[in-house]
Amino acid sequence: MAKYRNAHGGNLRASDIGNEVHLAGWIARRRDHGGVVFLDLRDASGHVQVVLNPDDAPASEEVMRRLRNEFCIMVKGVVRPRLEGTVNPDMPTGEVEVGGTSLEVLSTADTLPFQVDERFDADEGRRLQYRYLDLRRDRMADNLRSRSTAIRAMRHVLDDLDFLEVETPTLVVSTPEGARDMLVPSRLRPGQFYALPQSPQLFKQLLMVAGVERYYQVARCYRDEDFRSDRQVEFTQLDLEGSFWDQDDVLDTLQAIVTRVVKDVRGIDIPHPIPRMTYADAIARYGTDKPDVRFGMEIVDLGEVFASSEFRAFAATLADGGTVRGINAGDQGLSRAGFDKLVAQAQDLGAKGLVWMVVEEDGSLRSPVAKFLSEAELSGIAATMDGKPGDALLIVADEVAKAAAVLGELRLSLGRPDNHDDLEFLFVVDFPVFERTAEGGFVAAHHPFTAPLDVAEMRNSPETAVSRSYDMVLNGAELGSGSVRIHDPELQSQVFEILGVSADEAQARFGWFLEALRYGTPPHAGFAIGVDRFVSILQNEQNIREVMPFPKTQTGADPLTGAPGVVADTQLEELGIDVRAEVRAAWSDTTSDS
Ligand code: ASP
Repeated sequence: MAKYRNAHGGNLRASDIGNEVHLAGWIARRRDHGGVVFLDLRDASGHVQVVLNPDDAPASEEVMRRLRNEFCIMVKGVVRPRLEGTVNPDMPTGEVEVGGTSLEVLSTADTLPFQVDERFDADEGRRLQYRYLDLRRDRMADNLRSRSTAIRAMRHVLDDLDFLEVETPTLVVSTPEGARDMLVPSRLRPGQFYALPQSPQLFKQLLMVAGVERYYQVARCYRDEDFRSDRQVEFTQLDLEGSFWDQDDVLDTLQAIVTRVVKDVRGIDIPHPIPRMTYADAIARYGTDKPDVRFGMEIVDLGEVFASSEFRAFAATLADGGTVRGINAGDQGLSRAGFDKLVAQAQDLGAKGLVWMVVEEDGSLRSPVAKFLSEAELSGIAATMDGKPGDALLIVADEVAKAAAVLGELRLSLGRPDNHDDLEFLFVVDFPVFERTAEGGFVAAHHPFTAPLDVAEMRNSPETAVSRSYDMVLNGAELGSGSVRIHDPELQSQVFEILGVSADEAQARFGWFLEALRYGTPPHAGFAIGVDRFVSILQNEQNIREVMPFPKTQTGADPLTGAPGVVADTQLEELGIDVRAEVRAAWSDTTSDS
């Protein structure tokens, strides 16, 4: 017989009534009702009510009085129906309770740093410092469970499709994937550094050269980025790659994966096929490459309406090659002050200004600029933007990219649902190959190993060339990216050239990879799904930290273990590293920072 228990409390149901059970777990709550103690006992399966009556368990009476929240205990007892009127329909175990006959404290708990209870908010720094207590909360336990369910579902699909799970190294050489590398000093080669992988990109491509035709890995990746609310230095990707594969093969596989994950975590079927939208379309209609298509409020081009406008602000913008676009934000019930705030918001986003209009009951437009516009223009706006009485129409005249970005942001702040009850997947395809840098050069829009759609186009007009890369978007969040890869070493060298990496430099840094491409590389393509973000959306969490077991703070620190930390001088000596005096002096200020 098992030493500690023969049942899980959270699994008990009316069908268990009459059974003698041995349970073990933690005291989530205790109430003393005139000598009878009611416990809410929590284990990994959930909660159950345990009633300790000294009459039933005289030997345990003294122990009963000492119980406190979060003590770890073992209880024996009998499952029985709850008294009428005390049934709790909100609890899976709400019809039953366990009448305790004996009780043993397995370990006591110190005074808790915060209440381990959903109903009480705790400061996030404390939660991370005592993450092992925070993870006892139902919400967090559920997040961990769903994360495991999601990863299991991914593995199921890929195993069924004969993918091989292959691990790739985490101590690697620095590669050009766009972010800053996390570095690890080498003791055996003092002064030299490994990088932690930003992703297994080049290794998975080597696996294709190696003849592994279907690869996947639940891979830990590292990027030394400045923190935004949805980024962590260390994160998890479902990384995959296939040979003799093209874009459709990848997208079909992704559809199968996310369908299974959503089914297993949420219990629902997502509609097929997942829609596709080009990058150009996404920018034009939503002002972003990751449109949230759960709601409309699409961006409308008003260029034709103002083609021969005498309204200076619009006419001049159009003459300069700019654009006039708008969104119908619906009835926002905004006052004059509310509109002023939107104007300020648009300016903060970089717009020169924002024109607002409200559709009146009679269909006419009320706006501070109405008097500068012709009748034809006013009715053209109302018709193009499908204005109904009460609707707020917001118009931006600016450079094309600026107008799109500003309206895209306004659209999100005015229309975006604040929960993820509905799930809308989307594939965005045909991204550009390159983006312009502020210095006038190019960077790879995805990464430098991405194939262009048309090689001649890439050479002749790199600025506008389209690549064979694609993103998966869920509710306006980028779930991941991938591409068809370059499998021709000459083409790979040309891409480096356009990126301003000289042949010598490319040889010095990635010669090993360029050489591998010379030995019969199969055409291949792949993708990586951000596991943390995917699970956070499925769990309706705003921040990926909530679905990571032991995340870091916004400043990259771990308040639980104190990482990153200072190391002994002897360790530094072995590594051949000197820490400058002014940096040492600053240590005392930053080590307590969280
Ligand atoms: N390695 C890429 C990334 O991390 C994904 C891919 O292209 O497969 O974004």
